[in-house]
Amino acid sequence: MQGYDPFQLGEAVRRFVTRAVFGIEERKYYRFRGGKWYGGISTGDVVGCNLRCKFCWSWKYTHTTDKGEFYDPSKAFEKMHSIAKERGYSYVRISGGEPTLSFNHLLELLKLFNETNLTFILETNGLLLGKEKSYVKALANYNVVVRVSFKGATEDEFAILTSARPEFYEYQFKALENLVEAGFRPGVDVYPAIMLSFSTDESYSRFKERLRKIDPKFAEAIDEEYVILYPHVIEILKRNKLRPRIAFTPDNIPTSMI
Ligand code: SF4
Repeated sequence: MQGYDPFQLGEAVRRFVTRAVFGIEERKYYRFRGGKWYGGISTGDVVGCNLRCKFCWSWKYTHTTDKGEFYDPSKAFEKMHSIAKERGYSYVRISGGEPTLSFNHLLELLKLFNETNLTFILETNGLLLGKEKSYVKALANYNVVVRVSFKGATEDEFAILTSARPEFYEYQFKALENLVEAGFRPGVDVYPAIMLSFSTDESYSRFKERLRKIDPKFAEAIDEEYVILYPHVIEILKRNKLRPRIAFTPDNIPTSMI
């Protein structure tokens, strides 16, 4: 069968982008920044992912493991917290790569942010949350909003966009199911996002139908994502011979995506 197993890939990546120092899990970050997304959010961008999306805006750091520096949860917290305070933000997140690859690091961060009035947005492809119910149960102890970002509207689109085996797409839906089961409220504490640049109207309708079966509120709370044509994104699209049906230039991003 063609394609890779994202869990095997993630495990291999995890060995390079995490390390334990005196029992504390450190994660590789490549930068800390403020930004306009979510109306203003402090972000720590991590290295490494368990997918290889052909449109990934941070592919130089997610499709590799050798960049960045290790931070323990306290140091990462200090960086993200100080940016949020300086700029008056209400939100913080880990972005860039997949945060759940360093799950203990993530939980320690959530513990620290729980003592603040900041809301942590967990941006994830959801695969590990679909696989590991224990992860989802642990997340339920914290003030966290989970955004599960679907890579395409069908398993065929998922396989084309990520080069992973199509059956792993199912774990993205399973993540939503597990989160609802653990008490996360659909459309409030957990919501789906989807990369729609390569989907058809028909596949998107099927996707929404699938969400409705888990909970009708999910279909009303979809965060629609489209490719933004930054030079490094154009580079990876060309390399993968992938043509978006819809895309936006950096100076013309719709307000609904910000
Ligand atoms: S899941 Fe996100 S971070 Fe990982 S490769 Fe895909 S777009 Fe990039």
